[in-house]
Amino acid sequence: MVGQSPSLSFEVFPPNPAVGNEKIFQTLKEMQDLAPHFISVTASNNKFNIEETTVRLADYIHNDLSIPTIAHLPAVYLTKDMVSSILQALDRVDVHKILALRGDIIPDVAPKNDFRYATDLIEFIRQEAPHFELIGACYPEGHPDSPNQISDIQYLKKKVDAGCSSLITQLFFDNERFYDFQDKCVLAGIDVPIYAGIMPIINRNQALRLLKTCENIHLPRKFRAILNKYENDAASLRAAGLAYAIDQIVDLVTQDTDGVHLYTMNNVETAHHIHQATKDLFHKSIT
Ligand code: FAD
Repeated sequence: MVGQSPSLSFEVFPPNPAVGNEKIFQTLKEMQDLAPHFISVTASNNKFNIEETTVRLADYIHNDLSIPTIAHLPAVYLTKDMVSSILQALDRVDVHKILALRGDIIPDVAPKNDFRYATDLIEFIRQEAPHFELIGACYPEGHPDSPNQISDIQYLKKKVDAGCSSLITQLFFDNERFYDFQDKCVLAGIDVPIYAGIMPIINRNQALRLLKTCENIHLPRKFRAILNKYENDAASLRAAGLAYAIDQIVDLVTQDTDGVHLYTMNNVETAHHIHQATKDLFHKSIT
């Protein structure tokens, strides 16, 4: 049987504008050799100007590096006028793929009222600028705001029906949870490609941040053992974290996942390492 070749894509985030773009441009240039299927660029939910950060990087990736790019767009703190202005900025640089997001609600910062959910943003862009391709976010272990996974998948179905051509998942460390989510999506009639979000854990700070912010994400025993054993051994933690991510990716690809989206954390060595170990899986059809 010959199957569709899965995609390998990367996520990067724009640096704080006060720090400048020099390093991220160099990082992206070094990622170009790896020929990712696309690179997505995150956007600040509230802090930075999206046109000066996300759109600027997406422009560079698309026009200078000739790599397809997706601009993230969290909308809960934007008005319709602000979104229209960002759409025009993306049009000017010829970037036409958007990851349409609600964005996290920040405690004590009142949302604007124009976009309550990602679906509102998708419907607005469909109306205003139907030439954009829209991608949505999804959560194999449920979104933290959802009362249960059934409700989350019901709203995900509405989001896809509003006009998403594909979905990218929240990071996960237990592939079984992802496969279970895929099955539920099929039952719910969600039939767009789902790209699996994988984050290699390569240092202690990252691991601590993860434990603090992702409390609804299951950490399998094998993964927790790595964090515990190598808590104070940076080199071993990095080696084991990368090996764990590669093991997840090999399993995902052999189970015919549509694609793997690597949360690179702007770390080109991580992207190179994973690419080197798995590249033969991504550039051939599965037989
Ligand atoms: P939604 O799809 O709107 O869902 C949010 C919650 O509302 C869910 O619980 C859902 O079940 C529920 N819901 C949806 N519709 C309805 C409805 N009609 N009525 C009642 N409940 C409903 N954040 C950023 O700020 N910047 C980024 O660049 C960024 N990139 C991301 C990339 C990926 C791949 C992922 C998975 C997340 C990303 N996020 C980013 C985080 C994201 O913004 C948050 O997880 C946010 O809390 C939810 O966004 P969403 O678009 O998934 O929301």
